[in-house]
Amino acid sequence: MGVKENLKIVLEEIERAKSRRKVACDEEVTLVAVTKNHGVDVMREAIDGGVLDVGENRVQEATEKFKSLEREGVTKHLIGHLQTNKAKQAVRLFDLIHSVDSETVAEAISKAAGAVDKVQNILIQVNLAGEDTKFGVSEENLQSLIEKVDTLQNIRLKGLMLIAPNYADVENCRPLFRGMRKIFDEIKSTRQNFDMLSMGMTHDYKIAVEEGANIVRVGTAIFGERVY
Ligand SMILES: *Cc1c(COP(=O)(O)O)cnc(C)c1O
Repeated sequence: MGVKENLKIVLEEIERAKSRRKVACDEEVTLVAVTKNHGVDVMREAIDGGVLDVGENRVQEATEKFKSLEREGVTKHLIGHLQTNKAKQAVRLFDLIHSVDSETVAEAISKAAGAVDKVQNILIQVNLAGEDTKFGVSEENLQSLIEKVDTLQNIRLKGLMLIAPNYADVENCRPLFRGMRKIFDEIKSTRQNFDMLSMGMTHDYKIAVEEGANIVRVGTAIFGERVY
C-alpha cells in the first residue's frame, strides 16, 4: 500500500481510538509523520496527502531534507535527542523540539534561540519507565527542570513527551501513558500555554490516544519499515 492509503488508515485509527477514550479528554490529536530515514520524495508524498506535521530525529538529516520543503505551513518537529552543539541549527529548523531532558540542553536552546530573536517551543521528554537506555528526565527531576526552563528567556515550555518501552505486549504501555497523562494534567492545572502531550508511535499510538495523548509520532505505519 502507498503512503496516502496508510495515512488514511492511521488517521481513521486515531479517530477510533479517540472515541474509545475513557479519560476526561476531548482534545484533538496531531499526527506527526516521522520521515526519518526516508527520502524527500516520500516526505512530499505525505505532505501532498495532507500531512501538516513532519518529524525528524536528527538535525543533520533534517537540514538536508527541509531544504526542499519550500511549501509553507508544514510544522517541523525534532523528536530525537539534541546534542548541544546542534542547538543553533535546531532552532533555525524546527517549530517544536520534543526532546529536552536536561538543563544543559535547555540552556543551549535558549541561547541559540536568543541569538536569532526566536522563542523556541519545546516539550520536556520524561523517562517514566526509568529505562537506562532512554533519554529523558526522571519523574523526580521533572519539577526542577521545569523551574529551570522557566528562568530561560527564549524557550517556551508547551508540554511533555514520552517514549514508551518496546514491550512485546503493547498493553504494558497503558499504565505508563495513563501515568504520564496524570502528571501532565497536574502540571497543566498550574500553568498557561501548557497543552501538548506527545506519546505514541506505530506500535502503541492507539493506546496512547485512548489514554490522552494529543500528539502522536508515527513513522512505520505510514511509510513502511526503515532501511538503515
Ligand atoms: C522513530 C521515532 C518515532 C516513530 O517510530 P515508528 O515506530 O516508526 O512509528 C517516534 N518517536 C521517536 C522519538 C522516534 O525516534
